[in-house]
Amino acid sequence: MRAAGIPQGTLAAGQERSAGIEAPRGMEEDSGRVKISDIRVKHIDRELDPPFDAAWDPVPRTSFEATLVFVETDTGLTGVGSGDTMAGFAAHAHHFIGEDPLRMVRHVETIESINFHAGRFWPLEVALWDIVGQACGQSVATLFGGTAERLPVYASCGDLKSPDARAESAIALRAEGFRAMKIRIDPRRADEGVAAVRAVRDAVGSDLDIMVDLNQAWRPAGDITRSIDVPAARLIAERLLELDVLWLEEPLKGDDRQGLVDLRRSTGMRVAGGEMAQTFADSLALLQADAYDVYQSDVVLAAGMHRSRQLAELARMRNRSFTPHTWSNGIGLLANLHVAAGVGAGPYLEYPYDPPGWTPERRDFMLAEPLRIDGDGCLPVPQAPGLGIVLDPELR
Ligand SMILES: [Mg+2]
Repeated sequence: MRAAGIPQGTLAAGQERSAGIEAPRGMEEDSGRVKISDIRVKHIDRELDPPFDAAWDPVPRTSFEATLVFVETDTGLTGVGSGDTMAGFAAHAHHFIGEDPLRMVRHVETIESINFHAGRFWPLEVALWDIVGQACGQSVATLFGGTAERLPVYASCGDLKSPDARAESAIALRAEGFRAMKIRIDPRRADEGVAAVRAVRDAVGSDLDIMVDLNQAWRPAGDITRSIDVPAARLIAERLLELDVLWLEEPLKGDDRQGLVDLRRSTGMRVAGGEMAQTFADSLALLQADAYDVYQSDVVLAAGMHRSRQLAELARMRNRSFTPHTWSNGIGLLANLHVAAGVGAGPYLEYPYDPPGWTPERRDFMLAEPLRIDGDGCLPVPQAPGLGIVLDPELR
């Protein structure tokens, strides 16, 4: 008799089915494959003088930390990743040493099993994809679908500027080639924030797409400020709709799925979010609830590269957008760029940029050269095999 739920024909004659359905086996016995020989984690930082006063930070930043992950293999290929802190990873490195770096589903599932108990070790997945690309002689964007070789970006502003200063910055961005920008607003100072958006719209007309971020979905560690509620978010959304804002980001607490649905339906404003959804299941729950128009899972901070591709494909099937959050550092931006260009994310990719506080030199201090847009407002995907990371020679 066949076991319930198992399709006919899956059992060979005489074979017995054990309880449950087992994962495929076999690759681990292949000794001719590449093996991970070492994983090194290196913490670096750069002093920020003058400090950077990010809208979401409780105090201005006086230094910028980054963690680099180096995955070494027995064939000499080295992969590099960065993004989250990798705090506590040393105790889990043994789950990967000696394994074939190309067995990506195995690694993603292993990272997820560790994440349940410890940190978000997605920078390791980034380094592994860097190896996969090098082993195949292809850019990671090609392996993720190869949809685009460059993506239009939006200048993602970081600090709260006065209306006049924000309008001035918008004019400068337009002159540099940017086609879109995202403005932070403190929803508790909504009049001032809406005035900044209005000043930008008046200054650039319809030449620039404008997005607005309320940063209500999550808080830095130790900050227990509550999110605004649906009526407050609705009042802001209605004012921003009049200024032709493309999307409103994180208007509410990240798990207020019903509130997000209500806000979308009652205002007609596109709503974006999910940048820090902690697990793939959290992102799926948001998608299932139809909480957002634009899903923004950051591949180095949230659900990883492989899972973000799955999310992007599911969002597209539902006629929703995917475009990842990228506010970490130059390597995090590159990892998100490869996934985004591979799957065809859009309409714009986030490019953290708000001079003089946040510049490519600060953001990408670990790279030999900062990542810059072309004259058309697009960020080109490095075409070298892997992620195309060229580190500052002193950091290798
Ligand atoms: Mg955001």
